Amino acid sequence: MAKPPLKPRTLAAQAMGAIDPETHAIVPPVHVASTFLRDPDNQYRTGYIYGRPDNATVRQAESVIAALEGAPEALLLGSGMAAATSVILALEAGAHILAPKVMYWALRHWMLNDAPRYGYTVDTVDMTDTAAIKAAIKPGKTKLIWIETPGNPLWTITDIAAVAKIAHDAGAKLAIDSTAATPLLTRPIEHGADIVMHSATKYLNGHSDIIAGALATARADDPLWQSIRNVRARHGAILGPFEAWLLLRGLRTLDVRVRAACETAADLAARFAKHPLIAEVLYPGLASHPDHAIAVKQMQGGFGGMLSVRVKAGEAAAIDAAARVEVWKRATSLGGVESLIEHRASIEGAGSPCPPDLLRLSAGLEDADDLFNDLDRALRGANA
Ligand SMILES: *Cc1c(COP(=O)(O)O)cnc(C)c1O
Repeated sequence: MAKPPLKPRTLAAQAMGAIDPETHAIVPPVHVASTFLRDPDNQYRTGYIYGRPDNATVRQAESVIAALEGAPEALLLGSGMAAATSVILALEAGAHILAPKVMYWALRHWMLNDAPRYGYTVDTVDMTDTAAIKAAIKPGKTKLIWIETPGNPLWTITDIAAVAKIAHDAGAKLAIDSTAATPLLTRPIEHGADIVMHSATKYLNGHSDIIAGALATARADDPLWQSIRNVRARHGAILGPFEAWLLLRGLRTLDVRVRAACETAADLAARFAKHPLIAEVLYPGLASHPDHAIAVKQMQGGFGGMLSVRVKAGEAAAIDAAARVEVWKRATSLGGVESLIEHRASIEGAGSPCPPDLLRLSAGLEDADDLFNDLDRALRGANA
């Protein structure tokens, strides 16, 4: 009888069978070599030539991410920003790009301020409005639609399949920042995305101890993917082997970490939705979220560990609450084992769609009651 294929959770827990062939160590070594011995006839039969285009430890972590995304190939880069910008820099000169109004602020800044210096034109559009997306397409010029779902920091949901169709009808590719969803909750390639991007700094690694970025492709023979591979090799954007090894370790527990974060975020969302000092909770798992139906359609196993709350008394009260918490850590980033809180409007500055009364919460692995009580006391003006 044929064995059923192993589930992603099993593949990740065992790092895709990363057992050292020489010693049979259960944990693979870190391959640090920058260069490799040529065969006497000048061939490289192992496929490894030099450390800038490729590395065996990096490849091992890539194989886990590709399996999780249902992708034929994945690439790891030095950061989420390196991953995202490599997709843009791999486009042909003069390409027009559509980007969301609600997205990771540093990438929005790069797209609007830096990408034009490389000859790209970028327009932002409301990615929850299919008519607006269609209207923003420049026929023959638009080569890429970039989306992010759930989108930072309002956790708006974009219908991946609907935007994929618009992109493909226009002869463009769809790339998606899937950092907040993780490959466990959404597998964008199954919904028609061409390229999936993650800040692996966040959930994929999960321990707030590396900076890394990942890309996965729907098709290995896609010319855009080959171009991305060339950008990574020529710009020297590959992830370092030690970071790749830590990422491989983090990935082993991805499933249990993401499940726990989803459970805690859903619990906190429900409790803060009833809190007298909170005006609104932004979380795609709430039935009251405007895009809840689309979230149900394209997310499975949970709605993520990220939520935002809007403080009734306004910006100063939000900043004050963030100043008083003790269990929550006041820090940027997300997706780690420790829960983080951030007043995003102070960080994002002009042009941000983030309301000034908003606190962004990343649920970690602590006890949900401890997290609720800490923020509840802080909102009430007490020191936690
Ligand atoms: C953090 C983040 C990025 C950028 O990733 P880095 O690893 O910090 O470069 C991009 N998109 C999202 C959604 C993020 O949270």
